[in-house]
Amino acid sequence: MFGRAPRRSDNTKYYELLGVSKSASQDDLKKAYRKLAIKNHPDKGGDPEKFKEIAQAYEVLSDPEKREIYDQYGEDALKEGMGGGGGGGHNPFDLFETFFGGGGSSRGRRQRRGEDVIHPLKVSLEDLYNGMSKKLSLSRNVICRKCKGKGSKSGASTTCPGCQGSGVKVSIRQMGPMIQQMQHACSDCKGTGETINHKDRCPQCKGEKVVQEKKVLEVVVEKGMKHGQKVTFPGEADEAPDTVTGDIVFVLQQKDHPKFKRKDDDLFMVHTLSLTEALCGFQFILTHLDNRQLLIKSEPGEVIKPDQSKAINDEGMPMYQRPFMKGKLYVQFSVDFPESLSPDQIKAIEAVLPRKPTPKLTNAEIEECEETTLQDVNMEEEMRRKQQQQHAQEAYDEDDDDMPGGAQRVQCAQQ
Ligand SMILES: [Zn+2]
Ligand SMILES: [Zn+2]
Repeated sequence: MFGRAPRRSDNTKYYELLGVSKSASQDDLKKAYRKLAIKNHPDKGGDPEKFKEIAQAYEVLSDPEKREIYDQYGEDALKEGMGGGGGGGHNPFDLFETFFGGGGSSRGRRQRRGEDVIHPLKVSLEDLYNGMSKKLSLSRNVICRKCKGKGSKSGASTTCPGCQGSGVKVSIRQMGPMIQQMQHACSDCKGTGETINHKDRCPQCKGEKVVQEKKVLEVVVEKGMKHGQKVTFPGEADEAPDTVTGDIVFVLQQKDHPKFKRKDDDLFMVHTLSLTEALCGFQFILTHLDNRQLLIKSEPGEVIKPDQSKAINDEGMPMYQRPFMKGKLYVQFSVDFPESLSPDQIKAIEAVLPRKPTPKLTNAEIEECEETTLQDVNMEEEMRRKQQQQHAQEAYDEDDDDMPGGAQRVQCAQQ
């Protein structure tokens, strides 16, 4: 119950979908995605579900922040609460268009959804118990007010002559009998499909259509919130023309606490007693996460056994959005036994503690037996070594395909 590491969620699926290793560079990802997206596009008879999955995988892995969260916490950490204000996940076709620079043709047809910006936010267990708020200053792009996002003074936006507004150029290369068609972003307009005359550029945004703005967000961590939970600011990510602004999402990451472990609404701690305390009674003061002092004591005459657990009701974590309800605080006791006892101590203990009536052994019975020696072992190490031996044996058995372990044993039995 204690000290168990949080279960790691699956964080390899996206890499497998794209057929790349976990250390793949952005370039590798791009190449892998491009290949798979073309192959699996529903217009070319691909499976729409598969196409969606591939797009989802690329969307996450191509964003360094999302990739980091995915690597650490898996898919679920990205999913839950994401769609909070913005109408759910991305349309894979939007990504496809963004990627292949179809900007020009799709304009006006459908609004693109901007990227969500995801920030991990480290919090202490105390923060989650008491609640807190934190002001964070971020800079983001907003649509230029002067030109209303047109980028030009006159308001006339000009179609890029290099690509006729499509944002892409197609080049054809002949390699022997093969004709290769390559599509790439137009260099004249950087794929936007439009160029603004130098003199007509908006002085405020220099034709960029957006300007940087500092913004202070107040992240409110409510009592009882959990590791991995998200605080979403809908529509607060970078603004861009013709784009539905994405969300800023803070993902809470609880730092380890030196005393308490949390599971759902419960808290767990280990308290060490001396053998005398375990047998004769104990009391101690526990400082809780809100600095209250709790007096924890045994009942008169009560004996605590090693690894015994006890619970205190309503001293666990406050429940999210019901902070007056609290979980339990579990205390597990570990007992420090003395390494050895002197003959006097043994006599004193034997005098007061009831002795288990050990069956009387006759000399004849003892002589029948073989003597044994008890050795000290470290059980964890012992198990680890056994496991290694087993793996080695299995590897050996697999090597030996034609002669499975059984055959050998039969031979031995016949000898
Ligand atoms: Zn162009
Ligand atoms: Zn402007």
